[in-house]
Amino acid sequence: MSERACENCARDDDDLVAVYRVYVTPESWDTPGSTQRLDDVELWCFSCRSQYPHEEAETS
Ligand SMILES: [Zn+2]
Repeated sequence: MSERACENCARDDDDLVAVYRVYVTPESWDTPGSTQRLDDVELWCFSCRSQYPHEEAETS
């Protein structure tokens, strides 16, 4: 019931932070680079937060 797991890699972890996933589109010859932030908050472990682009969600 209180078990928490990362919503990105599904690993059990106590160190979870609410984040917005960010998709990064690299710059290419015909398009500028861009980032798109999703609206859904996910809980991510430290490993995912260190490997994937994201934006920390506001926590209250
Ligand atoms: Zn993870």
